[in-house]
Amino acid sequence: MVAEKLRPIRTEFFTAVNDDQLLRYSRHILLDEIGIEGQSRLLASRALIVGAGGLGAPAALFLASAGVGTLVLADHDTVDLTNLQRQILHTTDRVGQLKALSGKQALEALNPTIDVIPLTFRMEANALSEQVALADVVLDCTDNFETRHAINRACVHHRKPLVSGAAIRFDGQISVFDQRQPDAPCYHCLFPEAEDVEEVNCATMGVFAPVVGIVGATEAAEALKILAQTGQTLAGRFLMLDALSMRWHDVRVNKDPGCPVCGTPD
Ligand SMILES: [Zn+2]
Repeated sequence: MVAEKLRPIRTEFFTAVNDDQLLRYSRHILLDEIGIEGQSRLLASRALIVGAGGLGAPAALFLASAGVGTLVLADHDTVDLTNLQRQILHTTDRVGQLKALSGKQALEALNPTIDVIPLTFRMEANALSEQVALADVVLDCTDNFETRHAINRACVHHRKPLVSGAAIRFDGQISVFDQRQPDAPCYHCLFPEAEDVEEVNCATMGVFAPVVGIVGATEAAEALKILAQTGQTLAGRFLMLDALSMRWHDVRVNKDPGCPVCGTPD
């Protein structure tokens, strides 16, 4: 094509990529609260998303579309036909594939200019700690308390902001636990591990598809605000959604001074 031939050869000296980014992220850049500065922060950021299921799917899609430079997507599970009702990262022809790889494919199709790092193994304490240390923000998109507490411990240890979401039936929950702030509670302050909590999941209880979308997208919003350093996050607040009546409730969460995870040792 003639137009191609007329292009300058040393394209690395031109700002084609930056122009592309200006266009791609123009609707963010237009926002005074984000602007070029906030968008640059997003591009330079690294987010760890644990779980590429119902919550991780919309969260990852929005972080990718918004240009978070490096996304680490951790999930050791494979795509099942029963996931497709709500896990919008995955497609019918990818049933049987590892979710982290299926997710990488979806995110790169949406935004090929970011780096997506899939982690396909179950993250035990060491690997989790390593990944949390590297991340600027951590999104808990898992569905079991053991992993949630492990993520929380790593985030408290490395003082990394944690965006936590949960969804079951018609109910959603979201909060932010940010140990960089004085007197901020951690996940354990709110849900002590010692308590006998009955493990519930979507496989047995069912879940209304858009609830995971609402909660996952809200997790993305909190993560993007943290990374762009704008607005106020949900730190110290716990947001609950009843999608059957479409009502939100908001309660304050205080730090437990005796918390074995984030409390100050005597
Ligand atoms: Zn705590």
